[in-house]
Amino acid sequence: MKGWMQRFSRVAGLSRLANLCLESACPLCQRSTAQALCLDCQRQLQHLRLSPSQQTWRSPLPIFAWGSYSGSLKRALTTLKYENQPQLARPLGDWLAQSWLQFAQTSEKMPEKSLLEKSLIVVPIPMHLAKQQQRGFNQAELLAEAFCQRTRLPLNPHVLMRNRSTEAQFGLSIAAREQNLADAFTLNETVVHSLKRSPHAVLLLDDIYTSGATARSAAQTLRQQNIAVYGIVTVAKTTIAKTTIAKTTAAKT
Ligand SMILES: [Zn+2]
Repeated sequence: MKGWMQRFSRVAGLSRLANLCLESACPLCQRSTAQALCLDCQRQLQHLRLSPSQQTWRSPLPIFAWGSYSGSLKRALTTLKYENQPQLARPLGDWLAQSWLQFAQTSEKMPEKSLLEKSLIVVPIPMHLAKQQQRGFNQAELLAEAFCQRTRLPLNPHVLMRNRSTEAQFGLSIAAREQNLADAFTLNETVVHSLKRSPHAVLLLDDIYTSGATARSAAQTLRQQNIAVYGIVTVAKTTIAKTTIAKTTAAKT
């Protein structure tokens, strides 16, 4: 019995040691955690989650956003992208998937869902290749991987290609953004042929939805080739667009 106890405590000790070794600093607050985010930061982020009634899932390009682009969610996405913390995409993409599934199953805002879900294909908004090589990853693609793992929807990151870097978007007015993004994407012809053989509807996925210009441009590129676009899902949605529109309108009048 004594020997068993000793073995047990040695195993428990080793397991604690293994857990300690697996723990790393939470990328948002630097506290030690065995997960991608510590529990405190997870709780803070959950406060920014949008309710089903706050979703604007309607034509011409329905959008579903997990949360509001502010506070800790803004910090999490900035950290993911600019502080090389790609592991943050896993919890965020998973939360987006969970909320989306719940919304798809319960909301009356999503008609014909059973029909469309069968043929949905998830397409992350691509980055310009040079930019992606510089960063080492495309955050939308990593989020889409986590999203698809939970939803079991097929992922295809090769449908769209970005023609040029559109980083200069920041600070531009809505009209200037739209112009900048016109023809920003091209379709991968090989993938498009296979998509057309068995009809699919594309569900776009991006990390942030601001003015919607990027999403509209991607959707337009797909629809021009008769590929249906179901909508866009995004981790965070900002309300900056409204302010910018207001400022732009105010400046014009
Ligand atoms: Zn934390």
